[in-house]
Amino acid sequence: MDADALNNISLFERGWLSSNNILLHGGDGEHATLIDSGYVAHAEQTLALVRRGLRAGQTLSRIVNTHLHSDHCGGNAALVRAFGARIAIPPGDADAVAVWDEDRLSYQPTGQRIERFAFDALLRPGEAFSVGTRTWQAYAAPGHDPHSLILFDAASGTLISADALWENGFGVVFPELDGVKAFDEVAATLDLIESLDARWVIPGHGAAFGDVASALQRARSRLAAFVADPSRHARHGIKALAKYHLLEVGSQPLPELLHWFTATPIAGQVWRRLGRPEGSPQAWGESLLRELLAGGAVALRDGTVHNA
Ligand SMILES: [Zn+2]
Repeated sequence: MDADALNNISLFERGWLSSNNILLHGGDGEHATLIDSGYVAHAEQTLALVRRGLRAGQTLSRIVNTHLHSDHCGGNAALVRAFGARIAIPPGDADAVAVWDEDRLSYQPTGQRIERFAFDALLRPGEAFSVGTRTWQAYAAPGHDPHSLILFDAASGTLISADALWENGFGVVFPELDGVKAFDEVAATLDLIESLDARWVIPGHGAAFGDVASALQRARSRLAAFVADPSRHARHGIKALAKYHLLEVGSQPLPELLHWFTATPIAGQVWRRLGRPEGSPQAWGESLLRELLAGGAVALRDGTVHNA
């Protein structure tokens, strides 16, 4: 990646519980914009990172959420309290945010936490906003989330790809877990990204990267495997959510973790859709956990499951 690629951008690379935060610096007399704000459990860290990242005389005047999964907007409320920033969201979730419907917003079915926030503006696909010398065009990027946006600065060829494209793959295709076909949308979004001819990608998780063609190739081969066997994607999705849960709690005694598979609505829903494998959500959860253990994603010590 050349030195100018992230000119006037501070990328806070966070990990998996929190999405990356991308601070876009304004020019003289202009304030900064933050793309995505992480998970609620990390809100204090997000606040500290933004405070440290802001330049002298700058404040945070705007937050733009690419989509409203809990790991992308969990810092919104804290950032508004600290900076008075205005929040712009994709239009598809506006009604659910206005009435704060945690079911439609996915927090209730996934068992994830969030602090309520309100939005001030919509960012619609096709609209653009400028920060400093860069202009970011919003594109609809359905698949991982039906309402997700990606943001492209054509002049520099910089793409903020959210969870539509990572260096290795893409986010769980959540509509598919609800029984809504969305693999075609993932493919169309990957085609859209290819057509943008980006030079740099700043993903929702992981480091920024420049080899976009290879990333697209890996994403497409992963998608092809899911299309060939949708149950593989469904198992992957629930394993990813169980791992996410463990990232939040740190570690958990095995019986309590198995209870997560019974208590978390989306896990039971997928279990029923797959034809009730192993006879109970808990037994099915145990088999998924064995796969996570075998893959090294989690570790079992003294009857307690840890993040590996
Ligand atoms: Zn997401």
